[in-house]
Order: sequence, then C-alpha cells, then structure tokens
Amino acid sequence: MAEEKSLNFIEEIIDTHLKEGVYTSIVTRFPPEPNGYLHIGHASSICLNFGLTKRFPGYTNLRFDDTNPVTEDTEYVDSIKEDVRWLGFEWKHERYASDYFDQLYTFALALIEKGLAYVDDLTAEEIASQKGTPTEPGKNSPYRDRSIEENRDLFIRMKNGEFPDGAKTLRAKIDMEHINMLMRDPILYRIKHAHHHRTGDKWCIYPMYDFAHGQSDSIEQVTHSICTMEFVPHRELYDWLIKQLEIYPSHQYEFARRNINYTVTSKRKLLQLVQEKKVAGWDDPRMPTISGLRRRGYTPESIREFCERIGVAKRDNLVDVGLLEFCVREHLNRTALRRMVVFDPVKVVLLNYQGEEWLNSENNPEDPAGGHRQIPFSREIYIEREDFMENPPKKYFRLAPGQLVRLKSAYIIRCEEVIKDQDGVIIEIHCTYIPESKSGADTSGISVKGTLHWVSVPHAVKAEVRLYDRLFNVENPTDESQDFMHYLNPSSLEVLPQVMAEPSLLEAKTGDRYQFVRKGYFVLDKDSQSTHLVFNKTVGLKDGWNPAKG
Ligand code: ATP
Ligand code: MG
Repeated sequence: MAEEKSLNFIEEIIDTHLKEGVYTSIVTRFPPEPNGYLHIGHASSICLNFGLTKRFPGYTNLRFDDTNPVTEDTEYVDSIKEDVRWLGFEWKHERYASDYFDQLYTFALALIEKGLAYVDDLTAEEIASQKGTPTEPGKNSPYRDRSIEENRDLFIRMKNGEFPDGAKTLRAKIDMEHINMLMRDPILYRIKHAHHHRTGDKWCIYPMYDFAHGQSDSIEQVTHSICTMEFVPHRELYDWLIKQLEIYPSHQYEFARRNINYTVTSKRKLLQLVQEKKVAGWDDPRMPTISGLRRRGYTPESIREFCERIGVAKRDNLVDVGLLEFCVREHLNRTALRRMVVFDPVKVVLLNYQGEEWLNSENNPEDPAGGHRQIPFSREIYIEREDFMENPPKKYFRLAPGQLVRLKSAYIIRCEEVIKDQDGVIIEIHCTYIPESKSGADTSGISVKGTLHWVSVPHAVKAEVRLYDRLFNVENPTDESQDFMHYLNPSSLEVLPQVMAEPSLLEAKTGDRYQFVRKGYFVLDKDSQSTHLVFNKTVGLKDGWNPAKG
C-alpha cells in the first residue's frame, strides 16, 4: 500500500492483515449515536475510519447507533450527515442499528435457546447492587435458573408489551464471578415504552449498547471496528456474543479519545450549554462542534490536517487548541482573500487630494492565481484610531505629527495637523499625500516603515464583527473539582456593532472567508443580510494566546 507517510498503529495492523491475506479488503464504520451534534473529537474518529478505506481497499459505513429512543432525534441524524460530508467523506451505506432490531431480537432468542440468556425480574438497581466489585464476586440472581421455555415465553411477552418499564430485563448467562465485571451476566435488553424516531411504537424493548453494537458490526461484516479506549473492557463481551451466536467475526480495536483544552467534548455537556442558552445553539462559533467550527470559518482541510497531526494513540491526552488554530491559520493564509476593514475608525482628510480613483490591490499575495480587486480611494479615509499617536515613542512607525506612512495599495501620506473637539478627543487628522508614491508606480524615492490599512469614507460599508475568546477559562473544565459550568468565560463574545469595510465585501456570501489586513481571519455569518453584514472572527494573524494570562 501507499507508504509515503508512516503508518499509525491501526494502519500497521491492517497493513499486516492485508499482506498476510487475512482480508483482501476492509470494512470500517463510523457509529455516532444521534443524540447531539458532532464535535472535534468525533472528527478524529471520522478521519481515522474513513481515512483507512481511502488508504486501503474497502469501504466505510455511516451507522447510527440509535438504540436509545429517549435522547435521539432526526435533527441530529441530519446534522451528522451534513458534517461528515462537509469534512470531505462519503459513506458506502447509511445504516441504523434500529434497522437491525428484528435481527437482534432473533439473536436474543437464539441465546435463550442455547441456555445463554435469561429473563430477570430484579430491577436495574438490584442487579447493580449484586454485581460485586472488582475484588469481590457478584451474586447469582434468583431468576438465573429459569428454564429455556420460561425464558422464551417471558421474553416474547416483554416484546409484546405485557410488562411495564423496568419490570424485567434479558441478561446474558455468563459468570457472576468473572474478573471482568462486564461479563457478570450483562443486561442485553430492557423494557422501555418509548417512541423511537425511526421505528415509532413498534418496539417496547430496546437492546443495550453491548448487544447492539457488536452484532450490528457483524451484520455489516465490519472487519475493523474501531472505538475509543473506554471500550477495552467491553471487547471480551463483544467477542463472546459473536462466538456464541456464531456470526461474522468482526474485531474491535481501540484508540485514545482526543479532547482539546479550554473546551468540553461531550455531547451531554454541549447540550447543557445549548439548553441553558450559554451559547446561541449547537453551531455557535464558540462551540467545539463541527458545525460551530464551520460557522467560525474553519475549513474542512484544516480540521483534517489537525486530526492528521495529532495522530492516533493509545493514551488519552488533552490536545492544545493552539494546534487547531495553527492549522486553520495556515490554510487561510494560503486561500483567504485579503480585504481592508477599519474596526475603530478615525477620519483622515487628505488636504491636497481631489476627486476619487480606484486602486488595484492583490487578493492574496500567497496565491499567484488569486487575482486583483479595485479599491476606491478619496479625499477622506478612515484609519484605525490606534494607528495614530500624538506623542509617539522612538521607533513608532505608524502615523504621528510630521511622520510619513504608506496606505496599503495607495499612497504615502504625511500628518500635518490634528483636529480635536472641546474634550480633547481627536476627530480628524489632516494629512497631505505624495502623488508620486502610488503603490506599484512609486517614483517618490521615499521609503517608509509603516503600512496602514484604510477605507474610503464615502465608499465605506458598515458591518458588524463578532470576536470570540475561549469558551472556558481553564484548560480542563471537566477536571471534576467543580461543575464545568463554573469555568465558563463570561467574555467569550465581543460584538463590534459598526466597523467600516471596503465596498467589495458587499459581494460576500455566507461562509466566504477573508483575511482582514492586519486584523485576522473572518467569515461571513449566516445572520448577515444584504444591508447588514456580520463577520465572525475565525482566528488572529498570529498566535496571540497567552496561557499565562488565561
Ligand atoms: P460523547 O461523550 O460526546 O457523547 P460518544 O463517544 O458517546 O461521545 P458517539 O456518538 O457514541 O459519541 O461516538 C461516535 C464515535 O466517535 C465513537 O466511535 C466514539 O468512540 C468516537 N468518539 C467520540 N468522542 C471522541 C473523541 N473525543 N475522540 C475520539 N473519538 C471519539
Ligand atoms: Mg456514546
């Protein structure tokens, strides 16, 4: 196989399997539970599972692990499909564990016939309390020795809805003294009279994760079933069920969860942020969800690059969000169009300039095919208030009385006079421009150190800009010493209601990404209207994050 990049440990295993002829092609699956939106941790699993069948012969299924009717919803199914596609992957088959409910029910009956499963009347709490501990064996249930006939009859009646929620369960009959607690007669089915988003009211018994997951893998003939490390102890049960049912032998492999700092990657916690309105929804640009990152201006390429760089490991670790930001900054530097936007405007009047002209400026100096755009220039322009200082220190290269600077893609100007209101606030800066200094045709012979971005006053387009900071104030908000909500950063969103933008930005469409010169990377938000542009800041130009300041 392709050997240009070194193989991660799962790729090594598959490479060996293919070389040794254990398989001629492979099948993987990405198995989300549709109970929330996908987050950056899921992106690792998606890139891994789909990446394997890009690299090796075979295909990947998208399987919704929808065995828990209460928390699942088609809204989540749709968002998951959108996110996987947006990341650049296409599945072979779209499958649902609920498609297999009939088959799983038949599997359960087969276990009963073999004397390997029984109906238990104990409650879930009683079962838990009799499980023992890792050092003490569990106790057999008094219902463990029911006859096959009785178990079959009771299980059919469970399915037919004769018993209320929680009255009975179906358990595998393995060994209550097993050293692996998960092998101590695990629950396979529970009664839940609940409406399912796909099967409606057909079922009132639902399979547990351990009974649904491996069997679904087997039905789909998944060769390499990849999950995260917390499922290592489940592997024994996974293998036991496949063996006893004598079905296709899928195998489970585990890798470490990938979590990033200053955020949470758990659907349950993300749901809480949404429900308590701490954020504006699952796709709030501060959220670590795929949809949030998309709205924030992230590119699929940058997320795939991030997953590639963090790689696949066996030990859990917290990845620095700075790496994710590095990846998007690098991609946007190569691809984003440059535009000029002044956030905190102060007016400059060019005393010796009349009329207006349109100046040529590169869309992206990093991209030879990026082309040019025209920017209007006139007698009155805005610059950033912070780009002027009345009493500058030495080596200040921006605008100051008597000092020269270049306006990007335009002319060199000199500050002649500062006009203030009665409170001493600067309201206008009067300058002269040097006609021979036009960018691209500069014959002035003057060299200046500072270049400022600017926007022509009569042509300026007003826009709203949303600036984001970390959602949480600490690296690991789920350290358990406090409720994670306690660590929310109260100033994670700052809105600048009115910045001044160059008029070409009126052409921006939702999702278009830009570099605002000297300001950072921005994307047009879906809240924009033709008369009201809204931009989200994706990331700054440089790594401005100082962990010490936290
Ligand atoms: P959550 O705790 O956020 O609900 P989950 O593991 O329950 O996560 P699933 O929908 O079951 O979410 O996950 C689908 C797949 O994505 C699983 O194979 C799971 O192991 C993997 N996955 C989930 N979170 C991460 C993560 N942080 N890093 C790597 N893989 C992950
Ligand atoms: Mg899960």
